[in-house]
Amino acid sequence: MSTSSLQDVAWHSLPAEEAAARLAASFEQGLDDAEVSCRRSQHGENRLTPAPSRGPLLRFALQFVQPLVLVLVLAGLVTAVLGEWVDAAVIFGVTLVNAIIGFIQEGRAESALAALARSVISEVTVLRGGGKQRLSSTELVPGDVVLLAAGDKVPADLRLFRSRDLQAIEAALTGESTAVAKSGDTLPENTLLGERCNMAYAGTVMISGQGAGVVVATGDHTETGRISRLIAEAPDLTTPLTRRMAVFSNWLLLAIGLLAALTFAVGIWRGESAFAMFMAAVALAVGAIPEGLPAAMTITLAIGVSRMARRRAIIRKLPAVETLGSTTVICSDKTGTLTENQMTVREIHAGGVRTVVSGSGYSPNGKVGDGGDVTGALRECLVAGALCNDAGLSRSNRHWEIVGDPTEGALLVVARKAGLDERTLQKLFPRLDEIPFDSARQYMATLHDIDGARVAYFKGALEQLLSRSLSMLDGNGRSVALRREEIESAAATMAAAGLRVLAVARLAAGAAVSLSASSAEAGLEFVGLVGMVDPPRPKAIAAVRTCHAAGITVKMITGDHAATALSIARQMGIARAGETAIGGRELAALDDAALCEVVRRVNVFARVEPAQKLRLVRALQANGEVVAMTGDGVNDAPALKQADIGIAMGLGGTEVAKDAAEMVLTDDDFAAIEAAVEEGRGVYDNLVKFITWTLPTNFGEGLVIVAAILAGATLPITPLQILWINMTTAVFLGLMLAFEPIEHAVMRRPPRPPGTPILDAALVWRIVLVSLLLLAGSFGLFLRELAQGHSLAEARTVAVNVFVVVEGMYLFNCRSLKVSALRLRLFSNPAIWYGILVMALLQAALTYLPLMNRLFATAPIGGREWLEIGAVGVLAYLVVGVEKQLRARR
Ligand code: ATP
Repeated sequence: MSTSSLQDVAWHSLPAEEAAARLAASFEQGLDDAEVSCRRSQHGENRLTPAPSRGPLLRFALQFVQPLVLVLVLAGLVTAVLGEWVDAAVIFGVTLVNAIIGFIQEGRAESALAALARSVISEVTVLRGGGKQRLSSTELVPGDVVLLAAGDKVPADLRLFRSRDLQAIEAALTGESTAVAKSGDTLPENTLLGERCNMAYAGTVMISGQGAGVVVATGDHTETGRISRLIAEAPDLTTPLTRRMAVFSNWLLLAIGLLAALTFAVGIWRGESAFAMFMAAVALAVGAIPEGLPAAMTITLAIGVSRMARRRAIIRKLPAVETLGSTTVICSDKTGTLTENQMTVREIHAGGVRTVVSGSGYSPNGKVGDGGDVTGALRECLVAGALCNDAGLSRSNRHWEIVGDPTEGALLVVARKAGLDERTLQKLFPRLDEIPFDSARQYMATLHDIDGARVAYFKGALEQLLSRSLSMLDGNGRSVALRREEIESAAATMAAAGLRVLAVARLAAGAAVSLSASSAEAGLEFVGLVGMVDPPRPKAIAAVRTCHAAGITVKMITGDHAATALSIARQMGIARAGETAIGGRELAALDDAALCEVVRRVNVFARVEPAQKLRLVRALQANGEVVAMTGDGVNDAPALKQADIGIAMGLGGTEVAKDAAEMVLTDDDFAAIEAAVEEGRGVYDNLVKFITWTLPTNFGEGLVIVAAILAGATLPITPLQILWINMTTAVFLGLMLAFEPIEHAVMRRPPRPPGTPILDAALVWRIVLVSLLLLAGSFGLFLRELAQGHSLAEARTVAVNVFVVVEGMYLFNCRSLKVSALRLRLFSNPAIWYGILVMALLQAALTYLPLMNRLFATAPIGGREWLEIGAVGVLAYLVVGVEKQLRARR
């Protein structure tokens, strides 16, 4: 069975059985392991070969198309025309180095982001060797039987053989965004691609129902693979902050241009030569332009993204890194995010009797009641729970595991504890039809043949099933009048203890062969209540506390019962004593204005339908909140898109939700959201630290030039020396701030309101202060050297070293924006020390190597000079330190 022979088959025109026969596949068993590995070696992995992205040449060329760089290039050209070859060469050299660094860093950031996006593996449920398995979609081979459910992204091209209300969005393939119904019927051979309802194509998504199909093509041989090679989209590396910085640099450029022109004019007016003044203007432009800024920002963001990934939050869109730092409200699902999603049935209320269940986890060791035979309503409740169920229970390495929904897994476990094995039950009472579970409908139903009679079993939310029940089973299994209050009060007691309550009911279905939503309207017979624990995740409890300290409100939005939700919320500190929950039905009755008011004070939203989440997000946003919202289902996608940060679950989430989200949690744990917020705040801090550090160098250099011209003095630093300072210090000193660990205080202060200026008044003032210190220190020592009869080259070397040493000392001040440098652990960021070491070696080379002396017009200086330079550095450090202290006191 070669790949090409598979490609030629019009699978939609074959009856499903014949398609399976051609693929040597079995609908009941799937493939076995030996067959799978044989086919894998023949057909390869199920993935698309990525198309090459933007070529390296183009990417490199784009590095020069930035206003800051263009000005440098222009300066270099004019310098060359004036015959200053060395200067021109160095200016070009610097631009080139800058472009290379930008190119490498950008490439790294892009591929890191792309790799992260890919690391969110999409899993599929397949039938292999007669059992259900979850595996990565890359492992599929032709002939595999794939089970589809709402929210799945179709992993390969499938010929469907079973379908229940299955609907797909095929926009990825056909561009058509309305849902199309899918069925297993055979079609004429000339049916168009968009109308082949018995096929499910790779890359399309299932938005409702359930179904199964056999893989007919994988990887590049799928329709998507054939029509378009996957366009390896380069991730967007800009964020609101980098865009604001770009605008800022443009203004800066304008200001520098004007200042340069002014300097030139003043110099000429004072009788200086046009050539000297032009070189001064170039020096000013080159000095005042923060060349390293764009690269540093991208690198800092990229480092933040990889730190978040290590803490189990995968960023899919870079701007999210920043938005996370401004988040004011986190709306979280309960089940699986705040809780473990490890369900264990603790008690059953059936036939008016409460029965306690022992044992823990998914191991079927434990007793139902006293361990004796189960009878009457209790038995029926267990049987119904095991039959109205899509989960599987298995044992690997002495460890019990479930495949599928944990709520359903728990029902299989409790049935086994009572000696009822679901596999035997399923054989005895085969399933004829089903209504799959749906968060909006809140129940699931299956139809069975029970010893010749048709019985439908229902399980779901109490409100849904009790209201439809007319009678109930008693302890002996007889049908008696419904005792509604008794059931409601039993459910309320369970829920108040934090148990998740599931109701079970049944219906004598006469001769029915199929189920429909209206079947449930016929009047059910109530069977029982099952109460299960789902303990809060310990890390999530701590994370909620941290969020509160950080001024972030945590809200629980759940499909579960209000009392259960409230009890868990209280255990986790989300709701305080006395606080109440509000239900989906009450929410529906509120108009938008009232809703805005309610979302301000209520923290627990129960029985919320996914569609209501969108309204909740909008109401919160209308109140000025920056909202992070979790979701896992197809219906959650609109709310995830609307939220400022949509967060999807990596383990339990559907592909649709992941596609809509900005961030994916690899372990579904709420704690990862808190970690991501912390990292987001840390990244922003580090960016601000870099800016606060870098701007004084530029302003200081600018000031030195302007002051020299105004004073009619020789330039204390040449354009080349300025370039040297800017490039080396940005890379080896400033960039090291990106590795600064997060300060403890970040989660003890309120969220940063979006749109606040990057630099507050205090930081602007600090930048001015340091610029003035640089001016005074370098100009002062420069003049002093000259006055003592040293050469111009020596005086300039001193001035250059003042800049570098002050920058190095100031780097320690910038390790924290508010906290004194002395209070930080000295070696908590080793990168700083490596950077300083390299910088020291570079300065030694610049000062003492003859080649460097010739290139940069520097000269060796003596020990006394170094002492003076060091003194200026320490002084600058102390002045900034005192300024920080004074401000902190205030
Ligand atoms: P969260 O929204 O926090 O994840 P949840 O899992 O309770 O909580 P849904 O999955 O929307 O939210 O479930 C809503 C209700 O539907 C549950 O409280 C339960 O009563 C019922 N339910 C959940 N899973 C099933 C299932 N597999 N079969 C039948 N009913 C279910």
